[in-house]
Amino acid sequence: AKSAGGNRFELADPEADARAITRHGLTTALPAALERGEFFIEYQPLVHLGDGRVHGAEALVRWSHPQHGVLGPDHFIPLAEHTGLIVPLGRWVLQEAVRQARSWHEQADRDRSAPPLRINVNLSPTQLHHPGLVADTVDVLERSGLPPGALCLEVTESALIGADEDLLKPLRQLAEMGVDIALDDFGTGYSNLANLRRLPVSVLKLDRSFTQGMQQHPADPVDRKIVEGIVSLAHSLELAVTVEGVETGVQAEQLRQLGCDTAQGWYYARPGPPDRLHTLSLADAV
Ligand code: C2E
Ligand code: CA
Ligand code: CA
Ligand code: CA
Repeated sequence: AKSAGGNRFELADPEADARAITRHGLTTALPAALERGEFFIEYQPLVHLGDGRVHGAEALVRWSHPQHGVLGPDHFIPLAEHTGLIVPLGRWVLQEAVRQARSWHEQADRDRSAPPLRINVNLSPTQLHHPGLVADTVDVLERSGLPPGALCLEVTESALIGADEDLLKPLRQLAEMGVDIALDDFGTGYSNLANLRRLPVSVLKLDRSFTQGMQQHPADPVDRKIVEGIVSLAHSLELAVTVEGVETGVQAEQLRQLGCDTAQGWYYARPGPPDRLHTLSLADAV
């Protein structure tokens, strides 16, 4: 029996073991990393499809890990969610991103050719459930002086499926203050479209899979019909439509023709440091 146990151990997937060890190491390192300031934010421009102008940016967090190098959020956000560290980490991201947006606004005050850029910040489901969400957000906005209308909080569609009033109330309060709420990864969650009406959202962010469907020209007619349908429903509910993952001009042009309002993706710019974003918006190089 003993050797059978040993054999079973040998059959284990060494890569899975390594991943588990790494995961454990990263999880335990998270709180200290936050204290040591190892996280940083990259900004990816949001562009008007109509005139190609940059009007804002999404804040995307990264971890500059002393051994593993720069880690993307997929490596640690799920772990931070699991341990609850997402609450202080998310608060830090919000504070930092809002502070950055405020500095863009100050630059816009000094230089009329620089637009006052808006800032999008991701909220995870745990943050959504955290009772301090509204107070923290109000606090961050007040201390920075950024107008609430310049902030957009992105919540995934799946986090809001079946959401009851208790979960929606903080979002409703934020929306009433003027903060925009975007439904992220829209179209992947099989939510009831009629339900959209009762959510306090003002933006739909179409999932990247729709953008990928626009790579051929002309795109598959069914794909076109679906995007067309979502855009017309969104507009009839007075929601703006943002498309993500735009990698080519063909995609951008087809999505523009289908009536999408704003776009984000490598075609315009990869996520990067905040100063570069400001230069982009000034040059309107895209
Ligand atoms: P997301 O909110 O859907 O963000 C868009 C992701 O698509 C980002 O990945 C971005 O870098 C990537 N992307 C942008 N343009 C393109 C493109 O043209 N092609 C392709 N293939 N990808 C593109 P990233 O930065 O790795 O972030 C992954 C996810 O991590 C985000 O997905 C978001 O759900 C989460 N995340 C990032 N920052 C935060 C944060 O501060 N808080 C929370 N809770 N989640 C975050
Ligand atoms: Ca997002
Ligand atoms: Ca998304
Ligand atoms: Ca996504």
